[in-house]
Amino acid sequence: MILQDKVALVTGGTSGIGRATAIAYAKQQAKVVVVGRRIDKGEETVRLIKKADGEAIFVQADVTKEADVKAIVDKTIDVFGRLDIAFNNAGMGGENPSLIEQTEAEYDRTMNVNVKGVWLSMKYEIAQMLKQGSGAIVNMASVVGVVALPNILLYTASKHAVVGLTKAAALQYAKAGIRINVVAPGAIQTDMFEAVTDEAKAYLTGLHPIGRVGTPLEVANAVLFLSSDMASFITGETLMVDGGYVAQ
Ligand code: NAP
Repeated sequence: MILQDKVALVTGGTSGIGRATAIAYAKQQAKVVVVGRRIDKGEETVRLIKKADGEAIFVQADVTKEADVKAIVDKTIDVFGRLDIAFNNAGMGGENPSLIEQTEAEYDRTMNVNVKGVWLSMKYEIAQMLKQGSGAIVNMASVVGVVALPNILLYTASKHAVVGLTKAAALQYAKAGIRINVVAPGAIQTDMFEAVTDEAKAYLTGLHPIGRVGTPLEVANAVLFLSSDMASFITGETLMVDGGYVAQ
């Protein structure tokens, strides 16, 4: 059990990759704080964890709101007394593919969830981890945090920002015992992937040399590794979980 006695927080734990990771953490005996906006889905993740004899609570929060993010960490400390691991996974896609037709609201929405949400989460998580003298954070980017796709340019920009934030924060806190890494998945079979057209699904699937898209569990396993002491000399790293996508 590689996370025994650890307390782990997962933003966007209400579905997809976040839910799979919350369950994977709990199976390694971490106590898990599941975060998201949808109460029914968050409680479902907690139920799934408890069914597998794990321990978890749900905290409803919007990661774009500073008061909400502060409340996540406060609740974690109230209930479990510490915070060892955080997976800052909450994110969204969906934008007009044409830059010249995009709106300021689209820009703000993408950047607020994907970038500000990760920055705010790290701000309060690191403040707590500094008190403890240790911690491990994994942020969620994407293959388009490293390479670009032309028709999702705001999403591409936001995920590049997450990679940059991760590297700079990792350097800032390297001597404080806090490791900060980022995962960069290719297309993964979740609601977000299901939301695209069949044509886009076929195109995205074809970009992966391994010949298929990934599963939430395949990303969760990578996050689990980076969150654990098995990755004790790894910080500021971008781990591709992409079936060979960027190796081409
Ligand atoms: P998903 O099932 O749609 O998950 C998105 C999660 O983000 C949900 O749990 C959602 O929870 C949460 N979220 C969104 N906005 C939020 C907000 N303002 N505050 C709090 N939580 C918020 O899709 P997914 O594929 O698992 O996505 C998870 C992450 O993986 C995202 O960051 C995404 O960019 C990244 N990613 C996905 C793929 C892919 O192909 N699926 C590939 C690379 C990277 P609520 O709706 O309950 O708030």
